[in-house]
Amino acid sequence: MHYLSTRGDATPRKFCEILLEGLAPDGGLYLPEHYPQVDAALLAKWRLLPYADLAFEVLSLYIDDIPADDLRAICRKTYSQEVFGTREIVPLKKLEVASTSPARTDLYLEALSNGPTLAFKDMAMQLLGNLFEYELARRGEELNILGATSGDTGSAAEYAMRGKTGVRVFMLSPNGRMSPFQQAQMFSLQDDNIHNVAVEGVFDDCQDIVKAVSSDLAFKRRYRIGTVNSINWARLMAQVVYYFAGYFQATSSNTDKVGFTVPSGNFGNVCAGHVARMMGLPIDQLVVATNENDVLDEFFRTGVYRVRASADTHETSSPSMDISKASNFERFVFDLLGRDGARVEALFGDALAKDGRFDLSLDPAFQQAAQRYGFVSGKSTHADRLATIRDTFERLGVMIDPHTADAVKVAREHLVAGVPMIVLETALPIKFAQTIVEALGREPDRPARFEGIEQLPRRVTLMIADAAAVQAYVAQHCK
Ligand SMILES: *Cc1c(COP(=O)(O)O)cnc(C)c1O
Repeated sequence: MHYLSTRGDATPRKFCEILLEGLAPDGGLYLPEHYPQVDAALLAKWRLLPYADLAFEVLSLYIDDIPADDLRAICRKTYSQEVFGTREIVPLKKLEVASTSPARTDLYLEALSNGPTLAFKDMAMQLLGNLFEYELARRGEELNILGATSGDTGSAAEYAMRGKTGVRVFMLSPNGRMSPFQQAQMFSLQDDNIHNVAVEGVFDDCQDIVKAVSSDLAFKRRYRIGTVNSINWARLMAQVVYYFAGYFQATSSNTDKVGFTVPSGNFGNVCAGHVARMMGLPIDQLVVATNENDVLDEFFRTGVYRVRASADTHETSSPSMDISKASNFERFVFDLLGRDGARVEALFGDALAKDGRFDLSLDPAFQQAAQRYGFVSGKSTHADRLATIRDTFERLGVMIDPHTADAVKVAREHLVAGVPMIVLETALPIKFAQTIVEALGREPDRPARFEGIEQLPRRVTLMIADAAAVQAYVAQHCK
């Protein structure tokens, strides 16, 4: 299997060449040159596998430069009951049997948030940590990961990389802006290779610093700076696995179809669903659920993709979906436009840079987004979120987090009679206690292992929003 760029660079690259990379050299995102096809016989075989072995089977189709025994060992080490809390790894829970006409429809939650940091990002990041350690050891190299986080990504990266040989993490976060639980999760880590930097500023300031440092090529090379952001293909590929696992749990036969509804920000999670569907998994609809930051909902309704200025990006109560543009969206557009790299370059390289928008409403390809690729969308607001959290708790007895609530709200608008709908649960309520209290008038449930983490000693360095200061800090800690 080789990988190519969405902007037309077709230099064939192997998986381990792109594993430690961010963007392709031409500014595009990496995708496999084709999607391996899964037929009925293979689906029947995969249905019987435990999650780690299913992961190995899926990954083997995309990775042919790691020996099979090593890859299987990496999958088993990653997707274990000790790390993810259950034997199923991503257990499915029936929320209700909804009345749709003429048949009734099962509505499920797929639990992706029982890993170390209680958000779905662990599903991919835990694998990435093990792949990085393996590949860096093989090359005899080191990597310093520099990232910016508003909450879930940073902690997932730190818990995936803590104690790993050859990797250090420098994670910038906006001082005082993450939830108290998220701060405690990150800042209580005492591992030598994890560095928390709280920046006097907002998330955009953190992101600007990461960009500035990464564009200083001499510094980047000298200190081996890397990233783990959501455009990394290995993260996306890891997420493909749980679409298969969810499908197998919701169906009894491989001729059944299901729908998935996905709380979406950067389009990484639902893009993995697109890949699973392209591989032949019988997915009917892929429902993209957004919050007030409705860049994606606008596109799927109108065909216009319009990035927002940071001043027009809403700070919402589902903060992990507060995006001004959807960084993985380019991958889907590449497929939608028949993998025409020159057109993708014209849209994402030129039009977005110049006008901040492009318009496919009159392009026949846009009609195919729904018809051929199954994409539909919807949005949710703060009031919807509160009402959904309350209804799901009071009527169905299940406490859900604000992001998952956005998806449950939108899923209900797209139910197809008799086709099970699976909502991806992307975080546990404890991470967003303030909104749960607002909705339910009580504190969320807290898993036992997180009792009292707010009282643990903290390891964090406060810094002004200045790239040079961050560079000096990195240099000092890269001995
Ligand atoms: C990151 C995140 C999302 C958005 O996922 P994308 O892959 O960026 O679309 C949704 N919910 C939670 C809880 C997250 O942490």
